[in-house]
Amino acid sequence: MAGVKLQNVTKKYGNKLAVDNLSFEYKEGEFFSIIGPAGAGKSTILKMIAGIEPVTSGKIFFDDYEVNALSARERNVAMAFETYNLYSHLSVYENIAFPLRAPERHEKLSKDEEQRRVEEVADFLGIKRLLGRKPVQLSGGEKQRVSLARAMVRRCECFLLDEPIAHLDARLKFSTQTALKRLSVKLGTAIIYVTHDYREALGLSDRIAVLRKGKFEQIGTPREIYNRPATDFVANFIGDPPCNLIDGSLVSENGKTLFQSGNEFSIPLQNKSIAAAQKIVNADQDGEIRLGIRPSRIKVSKERTTEHSFKLPIYAIVRRPEGAVITFELDKCFFRASVKGPEQYGMSEKVWLDFDQEHSFFFKKTVKISK
Ligand code: ADP
Repeated sequence: MAGVKLQNVTKKYGNKLAVDNLSFEYKEGEFFSIIGPAGAGKSTILKMIAGIEPVTSGKIFFDDYEVNALSARERNVAMAFETYNLYSHLSVYENIAFPLRAPERHEKLSKDEEQRRVEEVADFLGIKRLLGRKPVQLSGGEKQRVSLARAMVRRCECFLLDEPIAHLDARLKFSTQTALKRLSVKLGTAIIYVTHDYREALGLSDRIAVLRKGKFEQIGTPREIYNRPATDFVANFIGDPPCNLIDGSLVSENGKTLFQSGNEFSIPLQNKSIAAAQKIVNADQDGEIRLGIRPSRIKVSKERTTEHSFKLPIYAIVRRPEGAVITFELDKCFFRASVKGPEQYGMSEKVWLDFDQEHSFFFKKTVKISK
């Protein structure tokens, strides 16, 4: 199958609106991820595509064929969940082979062909040596990879993967992500991947949809989502430490336009930033505006570097393997800068800061800022 399309799809559980008039089109051959916080509606979207949950309104298409009326079995999609659901009385081999033997699949593979398919997917996922074991003899991470292998052994219209590797430790996660990426290219089958982990989505996906309360905030390539977030929610959801969000307003002073937040903080804006900021102010009645800047885009130095530099005391330094995250306080709000070589800075020391305006964003306020 080449594509999956959702057209104005809404899902209500009783009065609870879980998915709100969503449309998107999966393009052939891409690795498409849906990310968002818990409760955003990610699993519900997959269940509706799989035919496990009916849509309340809207249409789902596989290629140009509307599948609303088809049962889950008729849709022929494979799903892997965060939970493993392995058959405890069967070996790992038999668990993985199980979908190939289901009579409704009409696959009727020879023993040799079945073995080839099971071993191939097990090999990809690094679990070939476990084929003779029972699930009880496996670790959580191994069970999760067996469950993934069982979903991916079939030839089907589409793979729907719902947090399939959430329980793996960091090292295994990386090797399983590598395997998944290779498998997706090899099989060429549609993969729609759900995760709450933005790093995973950025690493694996060709395109990402960011979901919030049943609606997409942005759909784009990882680069677009990271470098040009459409909303403060997207900026804040993606990045660690998250993108700084600073509320303020535009003021004019001596022919210059400044972004001012509280009494302590104002920076003169460059022309390009003024235009971007003014657009938001014009669209919003109260004149309030939110500046977004990633911690890596704030330069910290002991000396003043430009006429736009300003000075603030360090509130806290948290060390990281590659450097440190320095927190500053601004009118009871905090913002952070990532630096390399934290040894040169001390707590409460006053340092010079420079905001890289080429990589700053202006937003309407739509999320509450967490400290
Ligand atoms: P996510 O996968 O992003 O965590 P879900 O799709 O599981 O989100 O859930 C979206 C919303 O729908 C949540 O508010 C959840 O509580 C609600 N929900 C999910 N499944 C059901 C159900 N079977 N009955 C009632 N409400 C549900």
